[in-house]
Formats: sequence, C-alpha cells, structure tokens
Amino acid sequence: MASLPEPDRPWLQGLNPPQRAAATLLEGPMLLLAGAGTGKTRALTARLAHMLATRAAWPSQILAVTFTNKAAREMRERLRELVGDAVEGMPFLGTFHATAARILRRHAGLVGLTPNFTILDPDDVERLLKRVIAEAGLDERRWPAKGLASLLDRFKNAGKLPADLDAADLHAFADGRAGDLYARYQAELRALDACDFGDLILHLLAILRTHPDVKAEWQARFRHILVDEFQDTNAAQYQWLRALAAPSEGGTATLCCVGDDDQSIYSWRGADIANILRFERDFPGTRVIRLEQNYRSTGHILGAAGGVIARNRGRLGKTLWTEARDGEPVEVVAVWDGPEEARLVAERIERLQREGAALSDIAILVRAIFQTREFEDRFIQIGLPYRIVGGFRFYERAEVREALAYLRATLSPADGLAFERIANTPRRGLGEKSLARLAAFARASGLSLQAAAAALAETDELPGPARSGLRGLVAGLRRWRELAPSLRPPALLDLVLDESGYRAMLEADRSVEAAGRLENLRELARAMEEWPDAESFLEHVALVMDNERDEAGEKVTLMTLHAAKGLEFGHVFLPGWEEGLFPSQRALDEGGEASLEEERRLAYVGITRARRRVTILHAANRRVYGQWTSSLPSRFVAELPNEHVTRVTTMTGGASLWRAAVMGEDDPFAHLARSTGRGPGWSRAAAQPRHDRTIEGRVLASTVGRAPRADIAVGGRVFHQKFGPGTVTAKDGSRLEVAFDHAGTKMVMDDFVEPAGGAA
Ligand code: ATP
Ligand code: MG
Repeated sequence: MASLPEPDRPWLQGLNPPQRAAATLLEGPMLLLAGAGTGKTRALTARLAHMLATRAAWPSQILAVTFTNKAAREMRERLRELVGDAVEGMPFLGTFHATAARILRRHAGLVGLTPNFTILDPDDVERLLKRVIAEAGLDERRWPAKGLASLLDRFKNAGKLPADLDAADLHAFADGRAGDLYARYQAELRALDACDFGDLILHLLAILRTHPDVKAEWQARFRHILVDEFQDTNAAQYQWLRALAAPSEGGTATLCCVGDDDQSIYSWRGADIANILRFERDFPGTRVIRLEQNYRSTGHILGAAGGVIARNRGRLGKTLWTEARDGEPVEVVAVWDGPEEARLVAERIERLQREGAALSDIAILVRAIFQTREFEDRFIQIGLPYRIVGGFRFYERAEVREALAYLRATLSPADGLAFERIANTPRRGLGEKSLARLAAFARASGLSLQAAAAALAETDELPGPARSGLRGLVAGLRRWRELAPSLRPPALLDLVLDESGYRAMLEADRSVEAAGRLENLRELARAMEEWPDAESFLEHVALVMDNERDEAGEKVTLMTLHAAKGLEFGHVFLPGWEEGLFPSQRALDEGGEASLEEERRLAYVGITRARRRVTILHAANRRVYGQWTSSLPSRFVAELPNEHVTRVTTMTGGASLWRAAVMGEDDPFAHLARSTGRGPGWSRAAAQPRHDRTIEGRVLASTVGRAPRADIAVGGRVFHQKFGPGTVTAKDGSRLEVAFDHAGTKMVMDDFVEPAGGAA
C-alpha cells in the first residue's frame, strides 16, 4: 500500500514533502510545529485519511481532537471526500469536551454520576456557586460566585482535585476556604447528577488514576491519537493524553500533535504552552516536523502579521514564506466613532459583494463580543445577512433557555437547576415562598427538587394553587418522560411547550418581543431536527455554548478573534484596534508583559485568518455605558510594518500623538512604557467584555439541612409551622396525616412539624 503511486492515494495529493511525511510516517510520536496557514490542519487530516485508507487503524481506534466542533465537522467532511465511507464510525473525532463526555458516560458510575448526567453551562454553574457560597455562610457580595467560578475552573484546568490543592490554592478565595467550597460544589454537582466543563476531563483523570483496569482498556483501544491546536491544551488535557499514550504510563498509542506557539491565545483558560516543551521529554524519540510555506495569505498579509508578532520575546521563532503575490497592503482605517466604523465596514462589504465576493467568505473579527452590537444594528438596517458565531446569543435567550430547561427536567429528573427554572414559568401559583419551602424540604430530605416536588404535591404543605400547580407540572414531566423515547426531538419539544402552557403564555403576550420569542422556539425545533434524540441534542447545546451554530445561506460572519482560530476567510475586517479594547484593558492592567504578548498573538491570529484582504479599523470615540469617551489607536496599529500597510484617515487635526500612531510615525507608544498603558478614554468597558449579559440570579433560599426524623408517631401531638397544633392520625413514610386542632385534617411532611409532647 505504501508504495502506491500518488494518483491512487488522492489524500496525499498536493502535499509538500514535510506535510507528506507528517501524513505517512505513522510510527512514533510526532510534533508538527509551524506558523499560521502552513497546512498543519491539512496535514493532520491527510494523516487521518492515510490511516483509514491503509487500514492502519479502525476508525474506532483513533482519537482525534480538534479545537472546535466546527473544526471537527469540517474534518469529518474532508475525510469523507478523501476516503469515503471509511470515515463512518469515528466516534472519537471531536473536541476535548465532546470526546471526554462520550467516554465519561461509559464510566460515570465510577465518579458517582449516572450515564445521563447533565453538563452545566457557565450560567448554571454560577447560579449553583451562589448557593454554595451562601450555604457556606459567606457573603456573596464580598466573595462573588464569578470569582469562585474562574478559580475552580483554573484548578480543574490544572488537573487538581480538592485533595490536590496546596496552601496558596486554598487561600486564593475566602480566607483559605477555597478547598471547602470546591468540595461542597463537587458534592452539589453529584447530587444534581451534573458536571461542569472542567469535570469532563478531570473525572476521566480521576478514573484513570484509581482504576488501572479502565486505564488499560483505553490505552489498548486507541492506536493513534491526533491533536490539532496543541498549543492551547491545558494541563489537565495534557495529563489525559499522557495517561493514554505515554510509554512511561504504559501507553502504546502513537501521539501526533500539531500546533503553533504564536497562536497560543487561551492561557486565561489554563492553556499551557509549556506542553509543547514537555512533549519531547514525555515522548522520547519524537519526530519534530516544521512547515514554512504559507498557502493561505498574500505576501503583504504575512508581512504585516509577521511584523507584529516579531515584537514578542517569548517565542520559538520561525520564518514563513509564500509563493502568493504580495496582494494588497493591509489597510488601516481611522474613523470618528463606532457607528461610522460599522457604516464603513458595511459599505466595504457591499463593495466586495459587487466585485463578486461571497458573503460567507467575509468575516468581522472582534476582540470582545459586545463589539458585534454596532455591526448588527447597521446590518439589520441595510438588510445585510450576517450571523454571529462565538457569542452565546441564541442558546442564551431566555425563552430558549427555558425551553431547554423543560427538556432537561424531563429527561434528567435529578437536574434541580432546570426544575427550578421552569417551576413557575408559566405561572402556576408557586411563589418565592412556596419555592423556598420546596427547596428546604428537598435539602432536608435529601431528594432532588423534582422528587421533592412530587412528594410535596401530595400533601397540604403548600397553599392550594401552588399545590395543584406543582401537581400538574410533576404529572406533565412524568408523561413527557414516558413519551420521549417514541418522539422525534422537535416533536418532544412541541409536546412539552404545548402541554406545559409555555407556548400559550407567549401567545397570550401581544408584544413584538413575544412574537420573536415564538420564532426562536420554532428555530430551536429546527435546530433539533438533525439529532437522533433529545439527549444528544442537549449535550450538543451544552458543548457549543461557545456557540458555533451553523446556518445555511450566504452570510457575513461576526465572531471573536478567539473563536476564529484555525479558520480562514477571503476578507477579514478587524475593528476596534484601540488601547483598552485591543489590547484589552484587563491585559494592560493585570497581566503585565505576558498578557500583552498574548494579545499580540491574538492580533497575529486575526491577521492570518485572511487569504486576500485585511482591513483594520480604529475609532477616535466610543460610547461606553452611554458616555462618549475618546480613545487611542492600539499600539498594534503602530507595530504594523509600513511597507505592508496603507493608512487611511478621515480625521483632521487632533493630538499629535494620535496622528503619529495613525500614521505609523516613530514609536508613539514610548510613553506607555512609563505610564500604566491606559488610553485616556478606556475605563472599564473592555475589562468587562460581557457587561451587557445579565446573569439571571435567583437563588433558592439557603437553609440549614435537617436529618429526616423518626421521633413522630401516630397518636403523637405535633406543632406545625402553619397549621398549629394537631394530632398525627396516620403516617406514610415522611408523609403525615394530622388532625389539626384549628385547621382540620391535612397531609403534611414530617420536616415541617415539631413534636409537641403529650397525647391528645
Ligand atoms: P492555522 O495555523 O491557521 O490553523 P494551518 O497551518 O492549520 O493554519 P491549514 O488550514 O491546514 O493551515 O491550511 C491553510 C490553507 O492552505 C488551506 O486553505 C489549505 O487548503 C491550504 N494548503 C495547505 N497545504 C497546502 C498545499 N500543500 N498545497 C496547497 N494548498 C495548501
Ligand atoms: Mg489549523
């Protein structure tokens, strides 16, 4: 097979010699290190195709990790073109999250979860942490859940379980209580039969550590492991790869990792570039392959990107060349304000369209997702089709979240957060008080919220309307759960929305927004169509919360620079290159040189997404929280080498500093080395790129848990918080029938009564 001439091996066609080596040398560990657009991903895909086509491994024996779901989809499609059906049944081609989730479901019992565990999105995590913080007796205003969320994420990305924390870790939150809170949070997750993103890998690591048989099973299964965007793996992910493949761990799989140190942009999520340096030590005999020819971009684009990244000190260093022409210089446009920026970009896009460019080949890449707003406004005005990728837009909408919560509560009865969200939406008589009561009872009795609701609904503990509302909901959930296996996902959604009264609630609302919400629910049903069952759809939603929703049709793409990694477009617009926005204020304030270098890598990633044309923009004025402030051009604007750039300004006059920066004169940022690096206008907006996102923060009232009681017997006197004194006339588990002195005979839960002493 290996000696077939190339026409018979179409998957190798057109590859250059080092790419071909990367694709065909299947023995031994391999590290493919090369700059943007040099065909790393293409070589990796060819390597997969080669394995499949030459039967070097069965599809199920290959673990292939991509950075985004979109990249996984593209790789799968490309493989199908190259090797046809041989790609079928590659269960382990996907992101770290997706593949880990798939494996974890098989062993969920080993970490106290059921195979149907829920994956919480960041919003749910934060709500849960608020509760954990309150129950630990801490003041959430002083110790915010957001801070704890990112700390725990950091621990998890580093592969640390609560037991692995050191003194510094423990003191990173609430005066030494980080470990306690971490453990409480994990216990809460287990009780909810849920995990967060970080857990997916962390649980697997824990299982591999403690169950040698499971470890051996997976080591034996995978013959080849391939990882794209390796520079952005975190410590936990690397430990996992190592456990599966390193000879020192007993691994036999061949590991091939592909990456570019200049494109490491996720250190804030725990990505660790040191993994590249560690690799050769952990995997002796590693073959390192370098690619230097860039196939994507024009000479000017490469020159501009190279000029910026050359300012970074901490890099492995590499040269790139291209056979492509110089093309057009990168254009830097200074505009007056944000709306003008959007107007100008829209005009340019229309011009490109007239010249024959496809909208899908055009992208606007922003530093912070809130920047998309202005472009959306403009595009809606002029009817330019666009889509937003990389935000939380669609699945974040209240009605979509609520519809999804209905499905989650239907399919995962233990999912208390979902139940909490839908309990009184639409209104079914369950006020804050009743909900708090329900939560208290659930905690005291150790039941899930839904199970507690089912029990409580059969008693008189709650006021009449709340009781019948709850009863209806519980019965509905039971019924939908029973019907679920026989329904297609969109049909299940429709059933739930109709029978729960949720859709009727929106229909009764005559506002414009309600109409939009109904449309979104229809859109949700459409999105569910391609999934075999609602469970896998829910998992998909959880996994794509960093949203790569694919829509058909010709549309301009708006996305963050972070989400654009690995992608390419003919024409790329890079707006908002201003100090405090890009580089972000947070990077300037908190991270020192290392953060600034990461921002610069982000600039490099942005520029190198383009094949033909790059337009960089910066505005002199921005509105921040309704206030106009003036801003300085990004230092990266000045770092663009003049020979690869045309600078255009619609501005006249102004500060010489500003002009110098716009026109690329000398080093206009020398002063920044002395000062804080803060532009005059940028205060907080950039540091909080998601300020427009409101976190829905209703948290169930915290209570002190009580153990279920055995000290109440039939005939005993009790005192009930609401109904007063009475005599127990019957007992059924924790349910009591009580003849109250003043309130008649009622069913109550034993948690709400106190023994009153003495017989009737
Ligand atoms: P990034 O660092 O941005 O992830 P990359 O190194 O993964 O980039 P690819 O996306 O694989 O690069 O390739 C960039 C472009 O160059 C693609 O359009 C690809 O099809 C093309 N390309 C790659 N290798 C070759 C080749 N040998 N001949 C022609 N075109 C190629
Ligand atoms: Mg790539």
